[in-house]
Amino acid sequence: MKLFGTASVNNKGNLEIGKCDVADLVNKFGTPLYLVDEELIRNNCRLFKSSFSNSDIETEVIYASKAFLNLAMCKIIHEEGVSLDVVSGGELYTAIKAKFPPNKIYMHGNNKTMDELTLAIKAQVGRIVVDNLQELYLIERLCKELKSKAEVLLRVNPGIEAHTHEYIQTSTNDSKFGISIFQEEICQIINEFQSSDNVTLKGFHCHIGSQIFEETSFYGAVSVMLQFLGKVANECDFITEELNLGGGFGVYYSQDDTPVDIANCLQNMIDIIKKNAKKLDIKLPKIMIEPGRAIVANAGTTIYSIGGTKKTYGGKNFIFVDGGMTDNPRTALYDAKYEAVIVNKVNYENKETYTVAGKCCESGDVIIKSIELPIAEPEDILAVFSTGAYNYSMSSNYNRIPRPAVVFAKDGEAKLAVKRENYEDILRNDVEF
Ligand SMILES: *Cc1c(COP(=O)(O)O)cnc(C)c1O
Repeated sequence: MKLFGTASVNNKGNLEIGKCDVADLVNKFGTPLYLVDEELIRNNCRLFKSSFSNSDIETEVIYASKAFLNLAMCKIIHEEGVSLDVVSGGELYTAIKAKFPPNKIYMHGNNKTMDELTLAIKAQVGRIVVDNLQELYLIERLCKELKSKAEVLLRVNPGIEAHTHEYIQTSTNDSKFGISIFQEEICQIINEFQSSDNVTLKGFHCHIGSQIFEETSFYGAVSVMLQFLGKVANECDFITEELNLGGGFGVYYSQDDTPVDIANCLQNMIDIIKKNAKKLDIKLPKIMIEPGRAIVANAGTTIYSIGGTKKTYGGKNFIFVDGGMTDNPRTALYDAKYEAVIVNKVNYENKETYTVAGKCCESGDVIIKSIELPIAEPEDILAVFSTGAYNYSMSSNYNRIPRPAVVFAKDGEAKLAVKRENYEDILRNDVEF
């Protein structure tokens, strides 16, 4: 088991995060609870910013907000000088309401609706990342109607096969995202942008997948993209000003995972870009990266109350928690692995192999398939680590279960960031007739 950030065991033998005793937070806020280590998020932002920097090249770090977003996150990300990537009207609306500077917002999506594009253009977001030509024409039309202009990147697909879980691989030649760099009509496509009155193409965006542990995938993508910039400079007469390389940096969930050394990897990426730009004789573009998971995953812990345990006839030992696939669908979706402790028994010896299951009516409702823990009893508190990314943002109200609260802990202070949903929230949109 690995503890991240400010997580530690205090002298009462309890788990502590952000200098707050988790057992106290449970008394105050109830369970299930998403507990966020604010300092770790800030430190991760700083690590990315300081590592992705070089005196010869302009750089920008953009947080991929789909990993975890709310008003508090917008504030922290902005305070750390990091930009924001949004992929939907809802994420954009959250950023606007948080007064996130619009020029630091990147709007993504393979099928943005008219409403979403209108919102983005009206808000004057910094960049819209255009997926295809139909979208370009739509943006052009909306800009005319709204008497506005848009600066955009084109999403391209470098065909890199990142070694990661196949469900979250996005950049093979049949990806639904972007346009392949091998497409023969690439110059015609770029020309369409260049002949637009209101839309300016600043460069390209790619994103090769998620939860990537192979450094070589990133380096491969960077080299391929630089070759592509050389090609469009020579063949299409297009000088790329900006190159957004996406996110995908893998994180530790369990002993199976060995994340790349971020500082080292980012410096290597910059070196490869500089070398290739020189070799190919192309202008150094401004470069961006978009980490999501690597900023927040390890900073989140889900706290559950254990309702009961059950030894099945077949010999399986279950722990039942008061949440499940509604607050963390990743095990059901991706066969994700997690580590956990019993908060009030951190120093006890592991005595049993358990399956941690939720309360939803679905056999796949499992949080952890197999974990060694001390003997669990009703009313024990279970902390599941590294749930900061793609947990709250993927949560649901299946079985009409209200979503948990989100609390940010730092320096002994715990701040409520998202209220616990109640039964009235569940009925909020129901209309009686
Ligand atoms: C999901 C996504 C990211 C972030 O991916 P992580 O694996 O969370 O780092 C970045 N850019 C784009 C376009 C994405 O879709």
